[in-house]
Amino acid sequence: MCENIKTDVLIIGAGPGGYVAAIYAAKKGKDVILVDKRWIGGACLNEGCIPTKALVKSAELYQEILHGENIGIMSDNHQVNLEKIIENKNKIKDKLIDGIKFLLDKYKVRVIEGLASFIDNKTVRISSENEYQVEATDIIIASGSSTKHLPIKGKDFDNVFDSEKLLNNEKLPKSMTVIGAGIIGMEFAFIYANLGVKVNVIEFLPRILPTIDKELALRLIRYAKQLGIDIYTSSAVQKIEKESDQLKVEFIRKEKEESLSSDIVLEAVGRKPNMQGLGLEKTDIEYDEKTGIVVNKSMKTNVDHIYAIGDVTNIMQLAHVASHQAIVAVDNILGESTTMSYDAIPSVIFTSPTIANVGLSEEMCKEKGLDYEVIKVPFSANGKALILEAEAGFIKVLRDKETKKLLGAMIFGKEAENLIASYTIAITNNLNAHDLKETVFAHPTMQELVHESALGLEKEAIHFID
Ligand SMILES: Cc1cc2nc3c(=O)[nH]c(=O)nc-3n(C[C@H](O)[C@H](O)[C@H](O)COP(=O)(O)OP(=O)(O)OC[C@H]3O[C@@H](n4cnc5c(N)ncnc54)[C@H](O)[C@@H]3O)c2cc1C
Repeated sequence: MCENIKTDVLIIGAGPGGYVAAIYAAKKGKDVILVDKRWIGGACLNEGCIPTKALVKSAELYQEILHGENIGIMSDNHQVNLEKIIENKNKIKDKLIDGIKFLLDKYKVRVIEGLASFIDNKTVRISSENEYQVEATDIIIASGSSTKHLPIKGKDFDNVFDSEKLLNNEKLPKSMTVIGAGIIGMEFAFIYANLGVKVNVIEFLPRILPTIDKELALRLIRYAKQLGIDIYTSSAVQKIEKESDQLKVEFIRKEKEESLSSDIVLEAVGRKPNMQGLGLEKTDIEYDEKTGIVVNKSMKTNVDHIYAIGDVTNIMQLAHVASHQAIVAVDNILGESTTMSYDAIPSVIFTSPTIANVGLSEEMCKEKGLDYEVIKVPFSANGKALILEAEAGFIKVLRDKETKKLLGAMIFGKEAENLIASYTIAITNNLNAHDLKETVFAHPTMQELVHESALGLEKEAIHFID
């Protein structure tokens, strides 16, 4: 039996792009259908941002306990119970997902579980236990992304994990090889190393974390070494072999064959836009198999009433970008001509220490030929940072020499994920160092470092030599 439905807005995918679009559009009075083939919350809540950060918390706490005697906390017999860590992670994500389900229900969003596939530009078939044919005035595609796999021999062995599978692994290995030193690979490398696992990372490119400021990436390598993480860059993985109980990853580095053996392997070589099964070929929507669905700044595709948001557009694979694009898309459906700007998108890497950045890095400023100046504020200038044992961190701020416009900020160290918000607000709203200087920050907090950076840009720093 096929149910025919007409609706104002059909949203395909219930990740942080799709569910935000659904709640926002419903609150604005639209009749909304939200369809997902697998789960509410998408990659972010089920196998991405939230689960990994729950693991980061457990892993970092373990390290704090191990070194607690530095601050007068003595303890014996501390152990890692990965089963419990996974249970805690599941509790957190389930609670969040229940909350979203409650809100979708409250705002009368009709949620359908099933695979959505276009029949033509106007109509979408949803296949599940029942069949639905939906005709919608506007359609938002928020189908996200999924893990890329290397086309190599051995990738299907049981102990070769992708990030989703690893998030449900309850058996702590003694050793792990991570293939890929991007954000996901490096976050897992630190989680497992903090839990006491010997970790190796193999990266094809000449450097780790290619999207962040080089200085911060190099600094992170020092911390990785302290935790026993060995990193092999410019290394091309060839195959994975089974060697008694272990897996041997073979790779070529500097034209020489090398190999590393470990209990498990994590494949973290990126994510690709989810377009398979969407039936895009039956529409006029412009897309590319590799780079995703093409949209303009209003998140509109080339087909007037069809929008695409989030990872499927492959613009920036971040949950908060997907959610913001959702609001822009819905605003346009409502007749407001808002657009997305990517100039001040914060990005956080939850390694230990944490790295956060917004705006331009130094390399980007150089590429653009900008005449910029840099101020670096050491965390050691701040009382709260010392209390948190984070004095080795720093903030780096870039601004245009002539216009004094803030160009970018990078933070290396504890609380980076929160500190970056001040610079994001400043850059988004064209505030300058003077505006930050005029703002009073509470004491003792690490936010005082933001104030100090503004003073430093004006050569007025109080707590460090500028
Ligand atoms: C391990 C990991 C850690 C991450 N950590 C962070 C982080 O700390 N911060 C951050 O900002 N980002 C992080 N990300 C990225 C973040 O998860 C994504 O950017 C975000 O989830 C994208 O949201 P989305 O709504 O576009 O898609 P998704 O969250 O991928 O959701 C898409 C949904 O669409 C559904 N779907 C797909 N095709 C169809 C179809 N044809 N019919 C019906 N349903 C369909 C899928 O089932 C899925 O539920 C992480 C990702 C991973 C994997």
